[in-house]
Amino acid sequence: MSVLVYTESEQGSFKKIALEVASYAKAVANQLGTTVTAVTINTEDTSALANYGVDKVLKVSHDQLSNFNAKGYAAVIKQAAEKEAAKVIIVSSSANSKYLAPLLAIDLNAGYVTNVIEAPESTSPFTVKRNAFTNKAFELTQINTDIKIVSISNNSFGLVENNAQATAEDFSPSIPDLTVTVESVDKATDKVSIADAEIVVSGGRGLKGPENWGMIEELADVLGAATACSKPVSDLGWRPHAEHVGQTGKPVASNLYIAIGISGAIQHLAGINASKVKVVINNDADAPFFKAADYGVVGDAFEVVPQLIEKLKAF
Ligand code: FAD
Repeated sequence: MSVLVYTESEQGSFKKIALEVASYAKAVANQLGTTVTAVTINTEDTSALANYGVDKVLKVSHDQLSNFNAKGYAAVIKQAAEKEAAKVIIVSSSANSKYLAPLLAIDLNAGYVTNVIEAPESTSPFTVKRNAFTNKAFELTQINTDIKIVSISNNSFGLVENNAQATAEDFSPSIPDLTVTVESVDKATDKVSIADAEIVVSGGRGLKGPENWGMIEELADVLGAATACSKPVSDLGWRPHAEHVGQTGKPVASNLYIAIGISGAIQHLAGINASKVKVVINNDADAPFFKAADYGVVGDAFEVVPQLIEKLKAF
């Protein structure tokens, strides 16, 4: 049983945090009366690790791991942990470690404690001191699982030279399929997609509730249009998020954009400005949308829209 440490490198050289986690791992190993094994991925020269207390290096070389991949790296470290029967695994607080450590914790059914700043207070029970509340306080945390994963707060423990005699061995774990398939699913319920639509009928919070969308859909049907909505409408769950248009939603560049019960906030206009003709129906004559509109009807949507549908049907 050794303490396992994942040592990160960049362009063939170990990062400082890799040497810091190795230093920390040595302190833990000394407390437990065991040795330190480091896993390295695609790092040719591993000699620096011995200076920081690493007794054994498992060297993994694999083309598929030339770029960081949390799933692939976690699989490697898991197999290394099983090979070494490691009960304590030490990682840094780098962005990559933050991705892979939770996966590793799930795979190994391990307890995972982040932001640790000192060598364990005790190893039985395993108790570590960690930063909490955005470093405004610290706490002592006990890890009770059989396997423990600890991430070290960078620059907290420091580098400690140890001059161990490291042995290195090639390690060839199996690499899972790292192919990522991206599937695009358009969740819009409209028959015409917003991106392709010549005409878009869009509703805002002025429509009061999802039960009132029947007239929006009917108007869209009559015009062969797509339906859209303002952000609060989708945030409230009145309409699917795929219909949300604006700065943070889908952009609309239709020939005709009909905005019903939408105030015309700058963030909404940012997404629909490319539309050629904008028509606004709003009961407030001072609604900002009227300044951006080509045509406007000041009136109650619940009166105007049914009349519009009737006229269009008769057309
Ligand atoms: P309201 O502002 O509540 O306006 C409702 C309108 O309906 C009013 O003008 C009212 O006069 C009218 N009305 C009421 N009753 C009737 C009636 N019976 N008949 C006719 N009219 C009626 N918003 C977006 O839409 N898209 C975005 O991408 C987006 N991104 C954002 C990003 C950021 C960072 C932030 C801070 C905000 C963003 N917003 C976005 C929100 C935006 O600022 C507005 O709050 C939002 O657009 C308002 O939505 P609304 O016009 O439907 O609702």
